[in-house]
Amino acid sequence: MGELRKRLIHEFHDTPLAGHKKVRATMAEFQKRYFWPCKGADVEEHVKACVKCQMVKHSTQPKIGKLRPLSIPKQNFYSILMNFMTCILKVAGNNAIMVIVCRLSKWSAFVPCSKQATAEKVAQLFLDNCVRHREFPWDIVSVRGLLFQTQF
Ligand SMILES: [Zn+2]
Repeated sequence: MGELRKRLIHEFHDTPLAGHKKVRATMAEFQKRYFWPCKGADVEEHVKACVKCQMVKHSTQPKIGKLRPLSIPKQNFYSILMNFMTCILKVAGNNAIMVIVCRLSKWSAFVPCSKQATAEKVAQLFLDNCVRHREFPWDIVSVRGLLFQTQF
């Protein structure tokens, strides 16, 4: 794009009178007076690269919701956290660790298991390593909820 064209586009977009309009509005003003091949692409390129427009551009992303902290459990083993640590070396056929933590007392159990463990196997490990020694919790908080929602 030549210097004259750059300067024209600058005048129709960047000056205070032009007001940093969007591509379509800049083109509408521009088309009334000037023409050259691929003019639209040049205007679009200039507007998309405009630093001022990038700095004040409002986000089109949906607003992020407020964080809602979990309530404090009423007693020990009322609510537990369960999750898996998976980026570990394979030892004796196990390549993951199931972590169980009481949200109030912070009692925790680290149970070796496999990444490919089924919901039934995970449920059995949970019974053997948590419920057998403690109580059955009222709720379980987990990031990997799908495994726990299927056949757990
Ligand atoms: Zn701009």
